[in-house]
Amino acid sequence: MSERGMRATVFVGAVVAVFSFGMATAGEKGQGISAEEALKRLQEGNARFVAGTPRHPHEARQWRSRLEKGQHPFAVILGCSDSRVPPELVFDQGFGDLFVVRVAGNVVDTDVTASIEYAVDHLGTRLILVMGHSHCGAVTAALDLLGHPDGEPAEIVSLLYRMEPAVMGLPKELPREQRIERAVSRNVQRSVQRLSRVPDLRRKIKANTIQIVGAVFDMHTGKVGLLK
Ligand SMILES: [Zn+2]
Repeated sequence: MSERGMRATVFVGAVVAVFSFGMATAGEKGQGISAEEALKRLQEGNARFVAGTPRHPHEARQWRSRLEKGQHPFAVILGCSDSRVPPELVFDQGFGDLFVVRVAGNVVDTDVTASIEYAVDHLGTRLILVMGHSHCGAVTAALDLLGHPDGEPAEIVSLLYRMEPAVMGLPKELPREQRIERAVSRNVQRSVQRLSRVPDLRRKIKANTIQIVGAVFDMHTGKVGLLK
């Protein structure tokens, strides 16, 4: 290799090193906890939220200053954009705790998957929790509008069709509220399945490095129930 070539290689190496350091500090990835511990931490936070005794952790200026050096979120949450389901409040977590991806109907597409893979591969986060919620407008719209989405913009129609498998084939005799409830659960399960099939994530599930779980937030009680 020429001297010029070697210099170029050294330079690229230095850039990669600096970039990696910016992503996460060695030894602190994912706050160093397993998927099981992460899930326990979320459940404890949700219990505080439900009981009306939240701690609002990790909000102080000093803590936020520490985060300038890097982030080490212990869980990824894929949730709905709905203003009534903010993950940090629902799980009583603070700055730097959760890597949150929110999109109407908590659906999975390439950009959502890429964001989640970033947290898993570069930040060392080991738990991915997909969270649907009661009274989800996106799921309800999919139930109501699929088949005749007249007048809706193409982008919304495309999003609704992503939820089609969750709303198709539900027993017609079910009351509307129950149909919505069941579609919400099915929609979460579908997102879990889609993520579990992404090759990079599937490998890590098999190696028991990460876990992907589904849950539904009950807007009335504030409780997040895990789906089996
Ligand atoms: Zn929603």
